[in-house]
Amino acid sequence: MADRRMLKFVDLGQAYPAKRPAELRAEDFREIADRYAVADAAAQSGRCSQCGVPYCAVHCPLHNHIPDWLRLTAEGRLREAYQLSNATSTMPEICGRICPQDRLCEGNCVIEFSGHGAVTIGSVEKFITDTAWEQGWVEPLRPGHPTGQSVGVIGAGPAGLTAAEYLRAAGHDVHVYDRHDRAGGLLTYGIPGFKLEKEIVTRRVARLEEGGVVFHLCADVGGALPFAELRARHDALLIATGVYKARGVTAPGAGATGIVEALDYLIASNRKGFGDRVPAFDNGTLNAQGKHVVVIGGGDTAMDCVRTAVRQGAKSVQCLYRRDRANMPGSQREVAHAEEEGVEFLWLSAPEAFEAAENGWVSGVHATRMRLGAADASGRRAPEPDAEGGFRLDADLVIKALGFDPEELPAMFATPELGVTRWGTLRIDHQSMMTSLDGIFAAGDIVRGASLVVWAIRDGRDVAEKMHAWLKARATQGRKAA
Ligand code: FAD
Ligand code: SF4
Ligand code: SF4
Repeated sequence: MADRRMLKFVDLGQAYPAKRPAELRAEDFREIADRYAVADAAAQSGRCSQCGVPYCAVHCPLHNHIPDWLRLTAEGRLREAYQLSNATSTMPEICGRICPQDRLCEGNCVIEFSGHGAVTIGSVEKFITDTAWEQGWVEPLRPGHPTGQSVGVIGAGPAGLTAAEYLRAAGHDVHVYDRHDRAGGLLTYGIPGFKLEKEIVTRRVARLEEGGVVFHLCADVGGALPFAELRARHDALLIATGVYKARGVTAPGAGATGIVEALDYLIASNRKGFGDRVPAFDNGTLNAQGKHVVVIGGGDTAMDCVRTAVRQGAKSVQCLYRRDRANMPGSQREVAHAEEEGVEFLWLSAPEAFEAAENGWVSGVHATRMRLGAADASGRRAPEPDAEGGFRLDADLVIKALGFDPEELPAMFATPELGVTRWGTLRIDHQSMMTSLDGIFAAGDIVRGASLVVWAIRDGRDVAEKMHAWLKARATQGRKAA
């Protein structure tokens, strides 16, 4: 019976949920895709050929049980599909929305290779858990038998929240500290609502709070709240602070007013979405309305900036990237969305100088053409200036989205003995996930460098297991010593 519902990929084409027309979605910050109707989710799940070795799952950082929950969805057993999908992930509906599936699960689906178009795994994953929330199937977080031990988690992004969930389920007291006034990390203040509506994140945070995870917001560790104080308060600590030091542009004129950091711009926009007062948005500094906007960069952050500028009513939005389309780090799907929404991409172009008006505001960008030279140490072809010459763009808002490096945590936390790599990320023992300090663990972007939400969740899951084992061993030793 089940088999008749599967292997439909030859007769049934790939169909993602319908997207709203570009001109309509450019008017608001709501997500751009609809959710599947129940019958469509079942039919699309039925395209899976139930591979013996599912490459989709191999290439999913969480090794989700993809073929199993696709089969359950095809059979209409949605509650079981939800239970299975949630067994390996703390946020399946979030990954279903924002994972770059074209590079992960869907990009490795055998049906994609056979030329029939991958199973739409991410959209089904989102459908399953959205349905579970709607139907009231999402279980509360149930704390395990109390261990009497206390854990501090620094950073309420996906890595910290995931670890907090598993550690609380294991029976520990869990306290999460974040310098922002809302939890969620980049899910809340980086990624815009048109990719991930904020209610999806806040209901996850509320579930943790209801399960007894204690949040300490506006708690700047290493600033007003000394790291040493947290070490004294808790039996173990997790550092999951992400990477926030923005890379700069060194071209002449880069200090002009109106040349802003991508994250400042995105945070301001997300705060407006929450209804906050944001003076730098209201006075025009971080608002693209009516402006010629130039975004510099080719990653996810740049894509989010160009699409935010469209929604704020920019006069024009152009994106300068020094490599070509095939070599950009951002998702091709996001570039396609941006192009549909009217963004112009200027590939193989880099800023050379910025022009400012008499009042100090940026008025233009001089760019130079680039070409791809020999491969660098990472195997990517390094861009180099092309003698063919440059061009000028009008600009009254320039957004720098060139990536992020880690902050200097050993100095910030006044712990020079905290080991870091030559990139400034935290050095951990990959077996124990412990830093160079006993009982201090680390996970997420602060270990990997700027990465993906799904990898932060994976790290959060792994580190919770390691921390629990370490705490258990410590409690046993303590009992023996007594
Ligand atoms: P974060 O999410 O950065 O969370 C770290 C938290 O630590 C933050 O809340 C921060 O306030 C807090 N913190 C930092 N320092 C301190 C301190 N000293 N004291 C207290 N709190 C502190 N990934 C995808 O998979 N798909 C996408 O579409 C995508 N889009 C992105 C768009 C943008 C604009 C950006 C910037 C990133 C995007 N990413 C995307 C990457 C993804 O968001 C990150 O890889 C992921 O959020 C990392 O999780 P994390 O928990 O390690 O850190
Ligand atoms: Fe695909 Fe990401 Fe979901 Fe894994 S978590 S199945 S990679 S969408
Ligand atoms: Fe199904 Fe594709 Fe995964 Fe095979 S690789 S199990 S066809 S989703």
